[in-house]
Amino acid sequence: MPKLIFLDGDGTIWYPKSTKRTQKPHWIYHDPSTKNQYLQHLELAPKIRETLAFLHSQGVLLVLISANPAPAEVAESELLNKLQYFGIEDYFHSYHSSPGDNPLGKAEVIQRILTQENLLPQDSLMVGDSYFYDYEAAQSIGVPAYWIENTVSNQPDVIPPEWQKISEVSDILEQINHLVEPTLKM
Ligand SMILES: [Mg+2]
Repeated sequence: MPKLIFLDGDGTIWYPKSTKRTQKPHWIYHDPSTKNQYLQHLELAPKIRETLAFLHSQGVLLVLISANPAPAEVAESELLNKLQYFGIEDYFHSYHSSPGDNPLGKAEVIQRILTQENLLPQDSLMVGDSYFYDYEAAQSIGVPAYWIENTVSNQPDVIPPEWQKISEVSDILEQINHLVEPTLKM
């Protein structure tokens, strides 16, 4: 059982209602028809609430890291709004933004949090839908990662060995299935 799980936001735990994972999710923040009330156009991905509740109940620290071009203060206040909108803020130990223009930006945030929590990379794992910003960033510092399979995220030219792919965040429960409650099984 990991002690801490890093989760991406857009495309991972929530996404645009109308396009889910068939388009990069960020259009919702730019399109004139959605940008001023984007919360109403977002929804949680399947089984997110149950999965977060279960992991939280097991004492796993859940940490949200979302890349955003805005200054950290603005980005993190937006993250809190989203967590509160979905009523899932209590499941999270903390939430952070990372630079929107640096694919390895999450690695710095992950490293800082692991140090603060006195944990090793292998005590944690990362789940996200971006190959470069989530999966590779985490693996670059030794954090096991799971990539949410999709066709819109930029992908590497060379397929990495043992690429860990899942369909939904809830699939990580099967990776730790000795603790999975029957009601959460597929
Ligand atoms: Mg994402």
